[in-house]
Amino acid sequence: MIKDRGVVILVDEVSERWLELMKAANLNVLGVHEIVTEKPNSVDKVLSRLENPEYRALLDKFEQNGIRVEFELHALEWLLPRELFDTRPELFRIDKNGNRVRELNCCASNPDALAIISDRAHLLATKLRCSSHNYYLWMDDAYESSCCCEKCKKYNCSDQNMIIMGAVLEGLKRYDPEAKLAYLAYADSLDVPTVKPHKDMFLEFAPITRNHKTPITNPDEPNNKKYVDLLGGLLKIFDPSEAHILEYWIDNSLFSGYKKPPVLLPFAKDVMADDVKYYHSLGINSITAFGCYLGDDYFELFGNPPINDYGDCFNC
Ligand SMILES: [Zn+2]
Repeated sequence: MIKDRGVVILVDEVSERWLELMKAANLNVLGVHEIVTEKPNSVDKVLSRLENPEYRALLDKFEQNGIRVEFELHALEWLLPRELFDTRPELFRIDKNGNRVRELNCCASNPDALAIISDRAHLLATKLRCSSHNYYLWMDDAYESSCCCEKCKKYNCSDQNMIIMGAVLEGLKRYDPEAKLAYLAYADSLDVPTVKPHKDMFLEFAPITRNHKTPITNPDEPNNKKYVDLLGGLLKIFDPSEAHILEYWIDNSLFSGYKKPPVLLPFAKDVMADDVKYYHSLGINSITAFGCYLGDDYFELFGNPPINDYGDCFNC
């Protein structure tokens, strides 16, 4: 059986009902997430929920039932506040057209930007008060969001991701010396970084643009093959036994086109079972998937999603 069996759901979809579903399906990791569709940014939204004692008590209930609670967040916009652009534009990135822009991530070669990110990562950890040592404070959720300045040009998107995560981890360590941080292979970060990971950085692999209807190992599916090749390369620099898979088998936000109302979840159990076997064969023992848009509105429309079937697939 896979050791860490999770689901990543939206902050406002965490519920007693999900607690029961997770218990019944023998899942043991809950990731709390927010989709970046609202302003103020998604991290502020999660933090505002955490200020509510009832919400904290709900998360505590998951932990009391043996389900570890973690936070999986696109955090760069929060870690480098965008209002700094007005006085410190040099902290921010130059886009592919040569313009210095306020939006998304930062200049990965600016030491002051990295220092601010580090300090804010420490601050964020104090606010999240996560009982787990695993942190997931990702780059902003976008493509073409790296810096193209003279100094950054020599780094591809994956390298810039790794450099920025190095600053995040440094800040986290000041809060939790045992902190470990995800390097998320996603969006533009689809090369094996040339910058080596810190020993406490683990791989998180999220193959969003794969074909979800056929196993990831299907050699006739070029997009899946691309991800399989990438994962093989990444596992040469990251320890497979520490690596996390973040899949989409039950991501109903994806299947709903990120628009409400949610569709009926098209769960392909055979595909997931195949994929889990493959990931496990690589030495990976931590596997989760987004389970967004499976909140109260989904239950009212369609009843319970097939979470028991989802849990079954981890028995391999
Ligand atoms: Zn730069």
